[in-house]
Amino acid sequence: MPRLKHVNYMLIAQSESPYSVLTEARQWHENLAAARIALAWRLRTKEDRDRKIVLGKCLKVTDLQKEFHTYDFIILLNQEYWVRFDAKQKLALVDHELCHARPDLGNTGAQKTDERGRLVWRHRKADLEEFAKAIRDRELVQQPSLLDPVPPRRSLNVDNATGITTDGAVGTNTV
Ligand SMILES: [Zn+2]
Repeated sequence: MPRLKHVNYMLIAQSESPYSVLTEARQWHENLAAARIALAWRLRTKEDRDRKIVLGKCLKVTDLQKEFHTYDFIILLNQEYWVRFDAKQKLALVDHELCHARPDLGNTGAQKTDERGRLVWRHRKADLEEFAKAIRDRELVQQPSLLDPVPPRRSLNVDNATGITTDGAVGTNTV
């Protein structure tokens, strides 16, 4: 039988526990109250050339993609690591990803809307110092323990079609 191509993404159902973590983390992000945020697993993440693993990623949904579904952001979670995280690490990771999601504000300070009346959002690049401070302020994990978890045992068939890149690496892994 021919080897089947891997599918490296899987939707997380709203009834699954990561959504409880998302709900908890959203308490710190009032400016995202109106944002529609979906979660998906990233499977079989491979190390990049600097031997870093992406633990999570926040993607802003494009206008074209919004023609197909109604979300504003999709947060990818590295399933291999997620299942090994404790509750605080999970919360810190989702909090970090939410730090990338921001309302797109106009000159008046009000959130922009598009010509269809929808709120406009933006993706913010990682400001690692600020993000780390937020995590400390919330008494979640220290950054190194989030960024340097025990690597899972891996028996990977690596697929080159990874859509994930690092975004400002610190420590062993990136978020
Ligand atoms: Zn990040």
